[in-house]
Amino acid sequence: MPPSTQNADPNRSNAHEPSAATAGDDPGRVEPNRADPNRADPAPADHNALDPDRLDQVCAQASAAIATAGDLDELAALRTLHLDGRGAPLVLARRALGALPQAERAAAGRRHNAAAASVRAAYEARLAELTAERDARVLVEERVDVTLPGARRPRGARHPLTTLSDHLVDVFVAMGYEVAEGPEVEHDWFNFEALNLGPDHPARSSHDTLYVDPVGSGLLLRTHTSPVQIRTLLSRPLPVYVVCPGRTYRNDAVDATHSPVFGQIEGLAVDEGITMADLRGTLEVFAQALFGSGLATRLRPSYFPFTEPSAELDVTCFACRGESSRQPCRVCSDEGWIEVGGCGMVDPNVLVACGIDPTRYSGFAFGMGLERAAMIRHDVHEIRDFVDGDVRFGLALGTGN
Ligand SMILES: [Zn+2]
Repeated sequence: MPPSTQNADPNRSNAHEPSAATAGDDPGRVEPNRADPNRADPAPADHNALDPDRLDQVCAQASAAIATAGDLDELAALRTLHLDGRGAPLVLARRALGALPQAERAAAGRRHNAAAASVRAAYEARLAELTAERDARVLVEERVDVTLPGARRPRGARHPLTTLSDHLVDVFVAMGYEVAEGPEVEHDWFNFEALNLGPDHPARSSHDTLYVDPVGSGLLLRTHTSPVQIRTLLSRPLPVYVVCPGRTYRNDAVDATHSPVFGQIEGLAVDEGITMADLRGTLEVFAQALFGSGLATRLRPSYFPFTEPSAELDVTCFACRGESSRQPCRVCSDEGWIEVGGCGMVDPNVLVACGIDPTRYSGFAFGMGLERAAMIRHDVHEIRDFVDGDVRFGLALGTGN
């Protein structure tokens, strides 16, 4: 349909139709009266407008104008001007019908109808032409070339920590471990108490815990993945061999090596007859999966509340192979060893908290920070690179193992 914002209702002017023709019209005038929208009364009826010659002239003018309309908007305007607008000659002529003597009215009405039909036909014809032109133009302008290449989204990359975590999980799954996960908003009992960290335990202060509202609810953001050990021991039948990757939180300011959010991965084995030798052998597989084969491991005595005895796990520096005495090594700061994580035999108190008989079962646990491992492995100096979200970082490190 052509757009038309103008008043196209020819009947509207009837409300003010004068009751009698106004005398004194100029019979020689070709242009009919135009209704002035600001005038209170519409134009007076012009009964000369029904003269056959006059109607022919009006009809010819209107048809000629309509036939040359350049576009649909112009055509709509011409329709209002010549055919059905308030001041259109044909509308004015129709008003004049009522003022004619009865004898002349029928013939004049037929003439008027014929003239209006002729103009309307001209309008419909031009409308069809212009609509077809517009449709053809739209088809060309909005054509889609299906042979053009599509808009491709740039491909992202897996996060390096995800890749590393998955790789380590795969190593443990191959040894028969299951994957266990737990909530990041944790209860104090799982995060601390069951792990032999009572309310007044001094080691709690080193965890810089972020507590969760409401105060006193005992809810916190887990400071390590170890509460997953507790949840596992409470929910799975023994023996248990699980690996637990996850995100952890501490109230640390961001610097080159600290972030309030960081990843950990830890493992737990609880079975009959587990010894430190099992731990040692497992960690060797773990270290070689992380840094490559042929590297030695060592355990240094340490302290963790939830293991007894406890140890730090060191691996021979993969860069200098422990020969930093011959050449300076930035990776291990000339130590020859890299500290990888903590480990130990599960403290009997932890087993008791989970309802396990420590005289029958024993176990080991180990854990490490994912960012730290990835930083050592890929020689990354800023922990912030892991949280910046720059895809180039992921593209460089996020694929492969
Ligand atoms: Zn080194």
